[in-house]
Amino acid sequence: MVRMNFVFQIFFAALLISGTALAQTPTTPVTKKIRTIIVDAGHGGKDFGAHGGYEGGLDSKEKNITLQIALKLVAELKKQLPDVKIIPTRTTDIYQSPPEKADIANENHGDLFICIHADAVALQTGRRQTGSHQETRYHVKKTGKGRRRKTTSTPYTVTVPTYEYYKIGSQRTGTSIWLFAAHKTKDKLDALLKNEELEIESGVDSVYNNIDFDTPEGRIRAKIYADRYQKKSIKLATMVDQEVDKTDRPALGLYQRQKGIWVLQATNMPAILIETGFITNHDDERYLNSEKGQQELAECIGRAVKKYKDDIDHTAAIAAVAEKQKASATDYNSEKNEKYTDRTKTILKRIDLKQANFKVDLYDDGDIDGDIVSVYFNGKAVLSNKTLTDKPLTLNLTADPDKTENELLIYAENEGTIKPNTALMVVTEGGNRTEVRITSDAKKNGVVLFIKK
Ligand SMILES: [Zn+2]
Repeated sequence: MVRMNFVFQIFFAALLISGTALAQTPTTPVTKKIRTIIVDAGHGGKDFGAHGGYEGGLDSKEKNITLQIALKLVAELKKQLPDVKIIPTRTTDIYQSPPEKADIANENHGDLFICIHADAVALQTGRRQTGSHQETRYHVKKTGKGRRRKTTSTPYTVTVPTYEYYKIGSQRTGTSIWLFAAHKTKDKLDALLKNEELEIESGVDSVYNNIDFDTPEGRIRAKIYADRYQKKSIKLATMVDQEVDKTDRPALGLYQRQKGIWVLQATNMPAILIETGFITNHDDERYLNSEKGQQELAECIGRAVKKYKDDIDHTAAIAAVAEKQKASATDYNSEKNEKYTDRTKTILKRIDLKQANFKVDLYDDGDIDGDIVSVYFNGKAVLSNKTLTDKPLTLNLTADPDKTENELLIYAENEGTIKPNTALMVVTEGGNRTEVRITSDAKKNGVVLFIKK
């Protein structure tokens, strides 16, 4: 997902404005600008979170550290992004359940959810000798046999060392960023569907609102949204990691977890959780409790969010231009020159057909970022200059009876704002459905072959 360079961005915008025919009815939603950011100070009140109970530690509590960093981050974001609403989940030491935190994010229609936490590891116990003391032990002697058997104990005194036990601070230091692993299990989707506190009700403005999950199309759209959050979450997490990497402390990278990050799976927006540092480490705990450390972390996260916002807003602006243009564009159907012959073909899949007629639905896979395609079936244009969105471009096709191999070729007219041009193709034939991910770019055409036996 490399951004286009600036010159090409200008060129692409100009191309859209020049009135190049872009057909297809406008659909929603396209990428939205960032208007609201939710900052969550992890834990709070009776929920202390982790604590640094090791020898030589400050005995600090995670809930206080997260609050201090979150407050500084809120101030930093307000300064950096004056036109964005910054909403903290809490500003004092109060308890909030994870569903309450997620509700705050969802009810405020957040475009981004940032959770601040501090890490801890299980501590090992050490011991040291502090002196010695006397202990009474017994020599036990057995005499005689049968009924006459007797046991006698003779006491004696020994000197033994006295030990003191203590917890050893952990070695690990650094900042890591956690994401919810939605793409692996579709848990985010399942969570959104199952959770009653987070119902997909009309009051909550969510992209999931208008989706009918009982239809295959609805489920595909939902998958696309879940995937889109995931991509954006990874984008932001990577930017935070890069900013931390510029400091003196270790940037530990990105991690994914399927279970146990309730707030991340229950929010209808891109979400990341930052484990700012290890409360169980001597240096990290001091850093996390210091004004300087808290401010440095807030500034790192703030800079990353600013970058992320600029990037997303730019994508949104281009998508909006495309949307506007589409409304006034005339349909454009005949593509005389077979321009696709200039590029190489990549065969992405072979699908065996049981019958001659089949349906092909094309969606944008991931970000709705203005990917435009033309589609050729057995060398004939069947779609020209169509924008991929979350609603399908549908083709009802019939296999050529004289051919065993029927070729469907996707030609990328552009690469959207996020390279390459990616489409999700869903083929329905009889009762069978097949999904194919299509990638095409300025050098390669994506090809799917339909084999009629
Ligand atoms: Zn925590």
